[in-house]
Amino acid sequence: MATVGFIGVGVMGGPMARNLLRGGHHVQAFDLAAEALEALAADGAVAAGSAAEAAGGADAVITMLPAGEHVKAAVFGTGGVVEGLAPDALYIDMSTILPAHTDEIGAALKERGVAMIDAPVGRPQSHAVTGTLLIMVGGAAADVERARPLLDCMGDTIVHCGPLGMGARMKVINNYQAIALNVLTAETLTLAEASGLDVGVAREVMGGTVAGRGHMATTYPDKVLKGDLEPGFMVDLAHKDLGLALELAAQCRVPTTLGAVARQVYARAQTLGYGRRDWTSIYPTVRELAGLPDAS
Ligand code: NAD
Repeated sequence: MATVGFIGVGVMGGPMARNLLRGGHHVQAFDLAAEALEALAADGAVAAGSAAEAAGGADAVITMLPAGEHVKAAVFGTGGVVEGLAPDALYIDMSTILPAHTDEIGAALKERGVAMIDAPVGRPQSHAVTGTLLIMVGGAAADVERARPLLDCMGDTIVHCGPLGMGARMKVINNYQAIALNVLTAETLTLAEASGLDVGVAREVMGGTVAGRGHMATTYPDKVLKGDLEPGFMVDLAHKDLGLALELAAQCRVPTTLGAVARQVYARAQTLGYGRRDWTSIYPTVRELAGLPDAS
């Protein structure tokens, strides 16, 4: 069993640290909030007086803090992790932070000979409590394997996404789609309701279509990701149908911010020559705008 330094025992870190305790590990915790620290100590963790003290003698140190600034302060600030960390210990950042900060922290630790992995989590607090988090990991394979017994206590889905920083990138990119889609979902249901439809009926219908099931699960694997842009549904027709929805929304006075922007991207696909190609040609359109090489 390992000795683990755990810095940041708030909404997520608290239950994650408890699952390490349940897994038989020795947890030395530190948090700026005395209340959170005391609650964890009551469940068997050792309350440390600083991040350095929590890191002292630990096989691994985990941070679960709000943002990159907090992680840098906890690791490199006065009384920070590096003051107590043994050179052969593994450092694991599980916070959701800017990937550039992960790269920066990893490079600074590497200069000191300390190995790091990034392992941000998906799913809400209830999953932190039950030890069923999705953990997106970046780092060298050997370091990920070293961390696995600890990660297994906190999550039931551990995905190695690539080298250091790829966990942070995967997390931010996953959130990008989920968070942006939330707005599109709200626009869609508002338009349904304002048009006089029953929202339950709209949900039922769209639960079985691309709208509700998502392109990643439906159209993309069969078409563009296979290099097949033969039209199942043409960009020209999608552009026309999106126009119908925007006109309906204008009549109902419903804001369709994402829909209006999306229509411009369909228009861009048309100017790039994808009009009579499959609607998944939006993917190569955006790739072209990003300057990525032609995948075909
Ligand atoms: P939280 O605010 O509840 O916990 C953060 C803890 O860090 C607090 O207890 C705070 O006192 C402590 N802290 C801040 N700076 C510190 C420092 N320098 N040294 C020691 N302790 C310090 O936040 P949370 O909800 O547990 O989120 C933690 C991270 O997990 C965030 O990056 C968040 O984006 C991510 N996340 C949260 C959820 C969620 O549903 N809450 C889900 C997935 C990921």
